[in-house]
Amino acid sequence: MRLKNLSDRIYFLESDDEKGLPALGYIKGEVFSMMVDAGATPAHAALFIAHLGENGLQEPVFTVVTHHHWDHAYGLSALETISISCRKCAEKLQMLSDGEWDEAFLEKQVKNEAVSVLTLDNFRKCYPDLSEIEVFSTDIAFDGEMNMDLGGCHAVVKQIPSSHSRDCVAVYVPEEKVLFIGDGAESAHVGRNIADDRDELIALQKLLRNLDFTKCIRSHKGVMSKDEILRDIADRLSEVI
Ligand SMILES: [Zn+2]
Repeated sequence: MRLKNLSDRIYFLESDDEKGLPALGYIKGEVFSMMVDAGATPAHAALFIAHLGENGLQEPVFTVVTHHHWDHAYGLSALETISISCRKCAEKLQMLSDGEWDEAFLEKQVKNEAVSVLTLDNFRKCYPDLSEIEVFSTDIAFDGEMNMDLGGCHAVVKQIPSSHSRDCVAVYVPEEKVLFIGDGAESAHVGRNIADDRDELIALQKLLRNLDFTKCIRSHKGVMSKDEILRDIADRLSEVI
């Protein structure tokens, strides 16, 4: 996994498809810097911070958690940042942090789709001992949108419609025309299958059409142009009943 950059202000640690680890984003402001997603495990978060150090980049002050799925949120315990998510995500993480992690609790979370069947093998590889799991909720929870001035650039953290999960947020950097979309453009995992919600996908398509960006970073699918992601959504919409 390498740390890549799209500009002087936008970096991301590549995803690891074999282990199911998402890309982790970094926005370098002149005053504050921001991490996008906390990583799947404390080790994943620590790896990201190590890459920043090697590249002479400051540790982030803020971490935005794009949604409550384990691969995006469970690295929070290793980070000394101020963490941010939408209220729905914070509530889900709070519930997960209050639980006692054992086989019965995990089974419940698989039913709740907090840990999907499709990612369960990777989850078990990351967490062979369930009792070691430490889930943190976020420090700041918001509804709607937060526009943060990082110095020289902004991070607009906004809730977005999504088939994938009902607590998705994206981070938009208008000065760079870059959008960190997390898993917001992905399908939902339903049992061993994936499925799209037509209404959510149409709403997301509309939002993306109206947003002035040239590149977006999908957590598990890398960098795409605006045209590419809109084509992907249009193709899927043509297949959804
Ligand atoms: Zn997800």
